[in-house]
Amino acid sequence: MTPNEMYDRLEQTIRSYNPSANFAQIRAAFDYACSAHKDQRRKDGSPYVTHPLAVAQILAEELHLDSESIEAALLHDTIEDTAVTHEDVARLFSPTVADLVEGVSKLTRVKFTTKEEEQMENLRKMLLAMSKDIRVILIKIADRLHNMRTMEYQTPAKQKQKSFETMEIYAPLAHRLGMQKMKWELEDLSLKYLDPIGWREITEALDEKAAEYDGFMATIHRQITERLNEAGIKARVSGRMKHPYSIYRKMYAQNKDLDDVFDLFAFRVIVDTVFDCYNVLGIVHDLYKPILGRFKDYIGTPKPNMYQSLHTTVMGDNAIPFEVQIRTQEMHEIAEYGIAAHWKYKQNGQGSGDEGSYEWVRRLLENQEGADAEDFIHSLKVDMFADEVFVFTPQGDVINLPAGATPIDFAYTIHSAVGNHMVAAKVNGRIVQYDYRLQNGDFVEVITSQSAHGPSRDWIKIARSSNARSKIRQWFKREKRDENIVNGRASFEAELKRCGVSLKELTNEENLPAVLKRLAYNNLDDMYAAIGYGGVTSLKLVGRLREEIQRIIQQHQAERQAVVPVKDQPEIMRPAVPKRSKGEHGIVVEGLSNCLVKFSKCCTPVPGDDIVGFITRGYGVSVHRSDCPNADPARRSPLEAGRWIKVSWADKITETYRTTLQVVAKDRINLIVDISTVLSSTKTHVSSLNARSTPDGFALISLDVDVAGGDQLQTVIRRIEQISGVMHVTRPAG
Ligand code: MN
Repeated sequence: MTPNEMYDRLEQTIRSYNPSANFAQIRAAFDYACSAHKDQRRKDGSPYVTHPLAVAQILAEELHLDSESIEAALLHDTIEDTAVTHEDVARLFSPTVADLVEGVSKLTRVKFTTKEEEQMENLRKMLLAMSKDIRVILIKIADRLHNMRTMEYQTPAKQKQKSFETMEIYAPLAHRLGMQKMKWELEDLSLKYLDPIGWREITEALDEKAAEYDGFMATIHRQITERLNEAGIKARVSGRMKHPYSIYRKMYAQNKDLDDVFDLFAFRVIVDTVFDCYNVLGIVHDLYKPILGRFKDYIGTPKPNMYQSLHTTVMGDNAIPFEVQIRTQEMHEIAEYGIAAHWKYKQNGQGSGDEGSYEWVRRLLENQEGADAEDFIHSLKVDMFADEVFVFTPQGDVINLPAGATPIDFAYTIHSAVGNHMVAAKVNGRIVQYDYRLQNGDFVEVITSQSAHGPSRDWIKIARSSNARSKIRQWFKREKRDENIVNGRASFEAELKRCGVSLKELTNEENLPAVLKRLAYNNLDDMYAAIGYGGVTSLKLVGRLREEIQRIIQQHQAERQAVVPVKDQPEIMRPAVPKRSKGEHGIVVEGLSNCLVKFSKCCTPVPGDDIVGFITRGYGVSVHRSDCPNADPARRSPLEAGRWIKVSWADKITETYRTTLQVVAKDRINLIVDISTVLSSTKTHVSSLNARSTPDGFALISLDVDVAGGDQLQTVIRRIEQISGVMHVTRPAG
């Protein structure tokens, strides 16, 4: 086909699913690609533009993508291979199209040098994280599919390398995005070059079997169709051999002959309703003998990539097992086309393919709290777009760091010795500041020197990973003990002074043994050193000494009383350790002063919440959040209407308030540790923590925390929500 014929076919395909596409722009993209690539040829001698045309055709035919994606597909190699720039494309088409083309080029530049499984997973994640718009990865997968289809013209070395990448990176990505059909084709094409002999054996044997079992397939097909007709169920039935790579994998993994591989044949029944799916299942199990343990209900429990279907393996009269997959049309399209099909059903019911309707997918990537927060979105979020950044070492290994990580985090992830000897860092060949935020795909190089002075204390603030921070602290702990002791002592002394006690007094011969015992240190120097390197704060240690300090202060008072006449004694002694003022708890009750106030246990209000009061019988005023079900005006008893009164927060709040949080999370190791880290880093006191896990792998955690007000509470909630695995944090009421 000539490029013009290919273009006409493309336009026809798009028209069939999206008559309102922007054909003028698509045509312009085609013309532009023609002139940009006019001097280039493919390996087989055809004009280069046939490649972008074929990629656009795949996206239109298989995924029904929108105009912008088609334009970007037509232009996808222009920025990489020709003199065209991002600005050119943005000006002539749109900034979005330019971003898509640029995104695809960026992925093309990522080099694959490693073969370890863990590295592969990181590479896959890196590609996804780099594709800020999911359409970038869809175009890249289509690009790879066309390159694989035309791989025969490449050198054997290139064939092997590209096939390996496809098998390890692109086929799993297609799978994760739910695009089954493309995944199979990518796998089969890769296998062809990775193991040509195995590939030939299997395809030849399958061809033979196909001929041999032609009659068998036809019979089963007829039997199922007839029974469904009798039952009055409208269905489409199709049968096929399983695809070569899936059989290959079973043969090699289980060391079996083709004849021993269980599943060679699969039938698919597509019906109108979920209800019919289960009806068909009943009919199939009635017709053929089901094989125990092979029934799977992915309708009730969809796979993480949104795949839904009923699977069962049954045995016909002649003892040949075959699989039957039963699903609705919608499930079928999702199974074949994945994320693109899902969008279609979500957005427009019948998938009219309007422009701009990629909102859903975009939201998925940009705003991770999208309204369609179903389970699979959650798994996409956790798997692909977690708060991570992926960068390369000079050797081409991928290192996985928390988002916002700096060269310091990178250096300490490589090895603490690398971090401790770092004198400079390069990103993509250029020296950067230590607070540079690493970007996906960056090549990072750490320059070390044996005469390095070691980390600076600022690094603890710059580093984003707790791993790097703790390694830096380690260093200070070890290397700078003398300095730490001096700094720690000064800090401790200052903190004591604030309480009105001198260091000398606290650590005199009489007090010292009790103090050390209370603090759990062997000697004062150890304690100062710990404060000095940041292992513990002096505030915390002074807090532990509350009782001792009180006692010393009482001694002071006693001594003073002994000499000062009673009438001259100052009325208010500055309290050394502030005591909680009981009083009104920071609550102003309208029209009443000095009344007893308590906070309801059901909704645990904190300053900043809208609140109402209820005059109890004999226990003062109980304060509820306005949104507490127990304070709901609709539920108030008319007899007690007069007991509800207005209350508000006092201007100045000096106390902390206890409130309850409920956390739902995917259960995992260290979840509680991460939560307590957030609490301690926000200086939030926890008075109780209750966690239990459910049989389906979730953790329900209930926390009682003391906060100064709504701002602190919001920060705590937000920070807990950011912890990996946490699904939501709520404040229970009622
Ligand atoms: Mn390409």
